[in-house]
Amino acid sequence: MYKNVYVIGVFDLFHKGHVEFLKKAKILGERLIVAVNGDDMVASYKRKPFHSEHDRLEIIKSCKYVDEAFIIREYDNKEYIEKYNIDAIVHGDDWEIESYMRQICVTKEYLKSRNAEIVLVSYTSGISTSCLIKQIKENKDCHNKSVQLPTIFQVNENIIDQIPLFLKQNNISFNNILVVSGSTSSYKYAEIILNSIKSDSYIVHRNDLNTIEALQEYCLTKKVDLLIGVGGGSILDVVKRVSLLTNIENLLVPTIIANDGLVSPISVIKDINDQTLSLPGRTPFGVVVDINIIRNAPTKFLQSAAGDILSNISATNDWVLSSINNGEPINDLAYMLSRSAAFALIHHESKDIKNRNFLKQIVYCQINSGLAMALAGTSRPCSGSEHLISHAIDFNNLSENTLHGYQVGSISIFCLYLQKKLDAKCINYAQELNIPLAFHQLDGKIADQLSLIYETSFKMRPGRFTVLDTCKGMRFEDLYNEFLFFLERFKIYDSSFQFS
Ligand SMILES: [Zn+2]
Repeated sequence: MYKNVYVIGVFDLFHKGHVEFLKKAKILGERLIVAVNGDDMVASYKRKPFHSEHDRLEIIKSCKYVDEAFIIREYDNKEYIEKYNIDAIVHGDDWEIESYMRQICVTKEYLKSRNAEIVLVSYTSGISTSCLIKQIKENKDCHNKSVQLPTIFQVNENIIDQIPLFLKQNNISFNNILVVSGSTSSYKYAEIILNSIKSDSYIVHRNDLNTIEALQEYCLTKKVDLLIGVGGGSILDVVKRVSLLTNIENLLVPTIIANDGLVSPISVIKDINDQTLSLPGRTPFGVVVDINIIRNAPTKFLQSAAGDILSNISATNDWVLSSINNGEPINDLAYMLSRSAAFALIHHESKDIKNRNFLKQIVYCQINSGLAMALAGTSRPCSGSEHLISHAIDFNNLSENTLHGYQVGSISIFCLYLQKKLDAKCINYAQELNIPLAFHQLDGKIADQLSLIYETSFKMRPGRFTVLDTCKGMRFEDLYNEFLFFLERFKIYDSSFQFS
């Protein structure tokens, strides 16, 4: 048993490992004397401590195993060893004795002359200040995925004039509301809103950068605090963009549902050369979908919205394929949202595009698809090989008058075939929506340009692995012919010609 046991340490972010260590040191002798390293000293060899030297000293002093403690500002401990008549210097066994002696400026001879020795005790593994700091940092870096969800989300018939009610139900009020619409059909619906809530009206004609700038200017001078966008995709994209730039909330009232961009934080805008730009937009805090309005829109838009959903299945299949081949990570929640959206529609009892429940389901699916992409942080959950082929067709101007969702829906059938995942449900779904099963039927120009489309598809989004990558080295025309044979066998395609 020693008389005066001496311990030197930092004791920052005091934890159980420290307690265990001090306890072990105290057991060795009658009195435990602790030297707490000063801030500057620690900073010079480790890092600036989180707790100041005074705080660390207070904590150490209050520990029941400690009899005396002080701050030490130098490496040389001889003065204190002598002052306190130390006969045991205790340290954790994470140090080697020789180097520890050098650290505290003592020699074997010196210790021998004082009848003192160094005792190493085992350190409680798994607990250390560095380890704690690491944990705190990792915790801080491990953000939960946050996806902004609309506070107001209403999908029903005859609700366009109920926006004041929805705001009231959520205890939200605004002073300067601006209703933004187009000048023709969307203005008709904007007028209903203008009559139901105190607001001003603003008409946009294009979705270009000049329009954005003008509306932005208007909002700031008029001190607008809520933008209500009424119209199709391009008007809503302008509103989402201006909303982001001005930091003003937006509520969207779509008059057409044709794709999954409604709740996405993306605005498709034209630049001065009429080229399409995908710019960040602000996710709406409110979405009000009046089913009656959507139903009155031309059928082709609804068909397109329903078609776009088919691509969720082929896109998620591609995602899995990429995960198997390249180890691409899959966000399971995004995967689930995207697929359940598609299956809810495909298995829906009615495929009548004007049916209230089917229409509602289309809207829900578009919202889920948008959320899936926001969660994944990429379009991956809803965009795979079918989108690559579709973009390649657009890139080569081979199908000018076809709506995006209708086009990808049709191409999805082919991609599902390549993935060996084409089943009766998907075929029936496309047929019921009058979406061509063979995508060359989308436009007369496509049939002659199959190889060009195939080659271009790889340039559309380099790095996105899809089933098309597994077909490299094969003639695309041959693959397409096999696909047509497959359709014929099921008497669902009547082919009068083959591709050479
Ligand atoms: Zn799409």
